[in-house]
Amino acid sequence: MKKTTKGIAAGAVAVCLLAGMAGSPKKAESLELSIPLYRDEFDINTEIPVDVSVSPDDADIDDLEYFSDSSAVSFTDSVINTGNAEGDYSFYVRSGDIESNILSIHVVDISARNEATRKAEEERLAKEAEEKKAAEEQAAQEAEEKAAAEQAAREAEERAAAEQAAREAEEQKAAEEQAVKEAAEKTVAEQPEADPAPAPQPAEEPVQIVEDQVQEVPVSGTAYLSATGKKYHSIDHCGKMNPNKARKTTISEAEAAGYERCSKCW
Ligand SMILES: [Zn+2]
Repeated sequence: MKKTTKGIAAGAVAVCLLAGMAGSPKKAESLELSIPLYRDEFDINTEIPVDVSVSPDDADIDDLEYFSDSSAVSFTDSVINTGNAEGDYSFYVRSGDIESNILSIHVVDISARNEATRKAEEERLAKEAEEKKAAEEQAAQEAEEKAAAEQAAREAEERAAAEQAAREAEEQKAAEEQAVKEAAEKTVAEQPEADPAPAPQPAEEPVQIVEDQVQEVPVSGTAYLSATGKKYHSIDHCGKMNPNKARKTTISEAEAAGYERCSKCW
C-alpha cells in the first residue's frame, strides 16, 4: 500500500515537472463573465455571445466548465442560447475551484408578445368602435324619443287649444242665446208696464209742449250774443260772457245769422 502511494506521489511530481518544462501553465485566479451586447430582455431562440475574461491572462482554463440554472437554455463555448421558453436565467463558469460571477438574463417571446399587444390593441379598437356605435344608437334613439315626445306634446297642446276654442264658442253661443232669451223676456215683461205708462204720459206731454211753445213762441223775442261764440243767450251775462260786450238782438235774427240756442240759459 505505502509503496503504491509513494509511486503515485512520485508520478505526480514527475507530471508537475513535465508541465513546468512545457511552459509553466498557471492556474486561474479569477474569472469574469460579461455580455457585450447586454439588453434588459432577449428574444427566445437567440444566441448571445459572452466574454470570458481570466486573470492572469495566460492562466490555463482548458478545464472551463459552463453552467446554467435551467435545461431550457444552453451555455457552451462562450455562447448562450436562449431556447424557446420565456423566463429569467443565470449562468456562470468554473475553472478548477475558481467560479465566475453570475450572469442573469431575461428571456421573452417578443413576437408572441407583439402579437398579443397587437391583438389587444385590435380588441380595444373593436370594443371602442362597438361602444361608439352603441352610444350613437343610444343618442339616435334618445333623439327619436325626444322628437316623439315633443310631437305628442305639440299635438296635445293643439288638441287642448281646439277644445278650448270649441268650449269658448259654445259658451259664447250659449251667452248669445241667453241674451236673446233675456231680451225676449224683457220685452214681454216691459209690455204690461208700457200699457199703464201711457196714462201719465199724456200729462207730461202737454207740459213739454207748453215748454216748447214757451221757448218757441218768442222767436222775435230778445236774444243776446257774446263778443265771440256761436250761441245766442236769453240773458246778457250767461256763463263767462261780458255783459258790457253782449250785443242785443232778436231770436229770429240770431238764428237767421246761424247762431244756435244756448242750452244753459234757455
Ligand atoms: Zn246762455
